[in-house]
Amino acid sequence: MAEWHSIDFSRNAQVIPPLCPSCLASAAMPVRTTHLFLNQRYTQTFYYCEPCGKQTESAPSLFFSALIGLLLGAFAGNAFALGMYSKLSEAMKSNSVVNALPLIMMVSGAVGLPWWRRRSALRRFPLREGQAAWGPAAYYVGTPGFGFGGGARYKALRPEWIREFVRLNADQADAATCGRWGVSPG
Ligand SMILES: [Zn+2]
Repeated sequence: MAEWHSIDFSRNAQVIPPLCPSCLASAAMPVRTTHLFLNQRYTQTFYYCEPCGKQTESAPSLFFSALIGLLLGAFAGNAFALGMYSKLSEAMKSNSVVNALPLIMMVSGAVGLPWWRRRSALRRFPLREGQAAWGPAAYYVGTPGFGFGGGARYKALRPEWIREFVRLNADQADAATCGRWGVSPG
């Protein structure tokens, strides 16, 4: 399992390497990648090779699938409570499983829909040999520290890609970052 590395730059306009962050092939397909953290969305375009790019674009947003699944489950649960419940016998109405059904439907939707979407995306675009990850292999994750100093922070899986990324932006990387990734300071 590849490990995520964090990379800090002192300004917030970076040159993105024309190299696939997942398999290191030369890359020309722009893929907008969003990193969600609490209520913040951080979006950056990276370049992927075509097979990795198509796979990354297909990676469903599990958070939104869960939200939609929850709403669908709540809708079904309400329909059940409004439509069916009054027609049930008294014995059924006192059954705790029957009473919990609307809640069970909501939870099943929130868990089931993301699971199903991820499974179908994995079937369409299986993990290929040489890929660091299924889905995004690089993210822009905001600013270093608590954001007071400005700059930009990324995380990525492939040390080879990170080295190239740091090399292209060496003027924004401190000596420790350059040293760590074997790049001569800009
Ligand atoms: Zn690739």
